[in-house]
Order: sequence, then structure tokens, then C-alpha cells
Amino acid sequence: MAHPQQHVGLLVVGAGPAGYTAAIYAARSGIDTVLVTGDQPGGQLTLTTDVENYPGFAAAVQGPWLMEQMHNQCLGVGVKIAEDCVERVDFSVSPFVCVASQTVYHAQSVVVATGAKAKWLGLESEALFRGYGVSSCATCDGFFFKDQHVVVVGGGNTAAEEALFLANHAKKITVIHRRSRLRADHVLQDRLNAHPKITFLWDHVVDEVLGKTIPHPVVTGVRVRHVKTGQEGTLDAQGVFVAIGHSPNTAFLRNALALDEKGYVQGKQPTHTSVPGVFAAGDVQDQVYRQAITAAGQGCMAALEARSFLLYS
Ligand code: FAD
Ligand code: NAP
Repeated sequence: MAHPQQHVGLLVVGAGPAGYTAAIYAARSGIDTVLVTGDQPGGQLTLTTDVENYPGFAAAVQGPWLMEQMHNQCLGVGVKIAEDCVERVDFSVSPFVCVASQTVYHAQSVVVATGAKAKWLGLESEALFRGYGVSSCATCDGFFFKDQHVVVVGGGNTAAEEALFLANHAKKITVIHRRSRLRADHVLQDRLNAHPKITFLWDHVVDEVLGKTIPHPVVTGVRVRHVKTGQEGTLDAQGVFVAIGHSPNTAFLRNALALDEKGYVQGKQPTHTSVPGVFAAGDVQDQVYRQAITAAGQGCMAALEARSFLLYS
């Protein structure tokens, strides 16, 4: 059966801080606004617990709670929210066409706010044990490693937060980092250093996830390598949390918008894309700041740009 067709003023693609903020600003300025959530309504902050750096809250708030507030605020100002996923687009026609799994949208303007997702090491063994001891989400899976030894791979804020969260459950956490210095914020580094359960394996990479597959897949450790000496070793562990960064969700935009070599949306000025009338906000176009508050700020900017485009073009 053919998909239903819907005509909208602004289509916001993505339900993270960038998409919700863009939708709030657009709806409040009188634009008929539809927001399509994708398969992760609330975006990346739904994968975390304490958010301590989003302005307006003296104490930590929970990521999923914060995103629920944004969702409710959207509904309150008249945004129509669709649980749907955009699969392909045609930005060469006006109105722009966005084909989602349930509806075909014809939009006068579009804000792309599809964020980013966790990167993997790319090891065959990592894929084999994913969901069976290999994870990229401590909040989701940490509970399963009560009193066990787990390793966290990476040296950024995500790795630091994963390790600290895992310390609530696991007996011991080893952070394996390819350099001898973390890039995580100092406040997080201080907490890691002070934590009795957390130790570091510097200058090492994971070459293989070790485990058994019979009777069912179970992780038993990792094979590591010193990046300078090449010396190999193994570490016994029951869980492997990969926290090595993110890549943008732009597969559906290939050939429709200019993307850089890593897949991030490119534009001559912030929130602009290669197509007038199509704007981008948040982690899908930002490799530098990648924070909830910057994503929200860019969502606001994109909505204001979309409003100007709709008024004056
Ligand atoms: P995202 O939050 O990634 O949302 C993207 C949205 O796009 C999702 O709703 C998804 O379903 C949707 N989508 C994707 N593809 C499609 C499609 N084809 N069609 C329709 N929809 C689609 N930042 C902070 O400021 N403070 C923190 O404490 C903090 N903690 C973090 C903890 C973790 C574990 C992680 C992973 C990140 C953390 N960040 C934190 C970073 C922050 O979450 C991101 O910078 C922010 O969520 C980016 O917002 P966004 O709106 O650009 O994208
Ligand atoms: P990131 O800052 O890019 O850090 C990725 C880490 O993984 C780096 O330490 C990197 O090493 C390492 N790495 C990358 N590829 C690797 C590989 N193939 N093998 C081994 N190690 C590898 O990513 P992130 O930590 O996910 O953070 C992403 C963004 O979200 C950041 O802007 C961050 O500030 C934000 N964030 C914020 C918070 C917060 O504010 N509390 C929490 C989470 C995330 P090198 O250091 O050598 O490059």
C-alpha cells in the first residue's frame, strides 16, 4: 500500500536536544511543525543517567527525564510528533520530499537533527560478543556485571562516565586507553583517579575480545597490545564497554547533502547545509562541542534560519 502523504511547513528530523529545540522555536513562531523521532526518541541522553552540566538545574537531572521534559514542551506548543524514521530524501525538488517508514513528508523546509551513534572498534570478535558481554552503554547493561571485572575502552568523557557508572555494579574496572592521557573533562578525571575500583591500562589497544561461544557466547577477557612496544598480553574480564566516540547518522542523506569525509553535514555557516532551506543542528554537523546544550542552541539557530527562509525565499 502507498504511504500516506503529508504536507508540512517544517519537518524536524530527530528527537534529541537539537530537534526538540528546533521544533519548539518553529512551532512558537507559527510554523506548522512535524518532528520525526527515529528509533531513539530523546536521543543520546536517554543512554545516560546523571546530567550535571545542562543549565537550569542546581542538582544533577536524569538524561531520560530531561528529554521527556523537552518532548512534553514540544507537545505543549503544538508540535506534531511522529514515531517514524526517515529512510531517504529528495532535496532537489520543492517542497522537499522525506520518505519515512510510514509517511511521505512534503516539507517547505527541513531541519536535520539526527545526531550520532557510538563507534565500534571493528573487531570480528567484538561483533561476535556484542550483546553478550560487549556493550557501548553502561547505563543499559552495567547491571549485568555485578561484582565482575569489566574493561572500558577509550579516554574521553563517555569512557570516564561509563567507568564511573560501572563502578556502581562491577568489582573492578580497567580503563584501556591508547594514549597515556585522558581527554575527559578534569572533573571526571579527578573522580576516576579517586575511585578505588578503577585502574588504567595506558598506551594499549584491544586487538581481540576473548570468550566462549558454547553453550552460549560469554566474554572471558581481552587480548591487548602496547602501542609503542607491540608487546601483547591478555586481561581476564567478563565485560567490555567500548566508548571510543561517535559517528553521525547521515546514511540517508548521502547524495542529497554535502557531507565531509567522516559523514558530518557540511555548510558554509553554522546550521546551513549545501541546500538552501535545509538546515542541520546538533551532533550531526558538530564534531567539536557535541554537548546537549550546544545541540539545543544549534536547534534554536536552525529554526530561526528556517523561519527566515520560509518568510523571505
Ligand atoms: P541525538 O541526541 O543523537 O538525537 C538524535 C535523534 O535523531 C534521535 O532521536 C534519533 O532517533 C533521531 N534519528 C536518527 N536518525 C534518524 C532518521 N533517519 N529519521 C528520524 N530520526 C532519526 N552532553 C552533555 O551536555 N552532558 C552530558 O552529561 C552528556 N552525557 C552523555 C552521555 C552519553 C552516554 C552520551 C552518548 C552522550 C552524552 N552527552 C552529554 C552528549 C549529548 O548527549 C549529545 O551531544 C546530544 O544528545 C546531541 O543531541 P542531538 O539532538 O544532536 O542528537
Ligand atoms: P571522544 O571525546 O571523541 O573520545 C573518544 C576516545 O576514544 C578518545 O580518548 C580516543 O582516543 C579514543 N578512541 C577513538 N578511536 C579509538 C580506537 N579505534 N581505539 C581505541 N581508542 C579510540 O568521544 P566521547 O567520549 O564519546 O565524547 C563525545 C562527545 O560527547 C564529546 O564532545 C564529549 O565531551 C561529549 N560528552 C560529554 C559528556 C559530559 O559532558 N559529561 C559525557 C559524555 C560525552 P584519543 O584520546 O587518543 O583520541
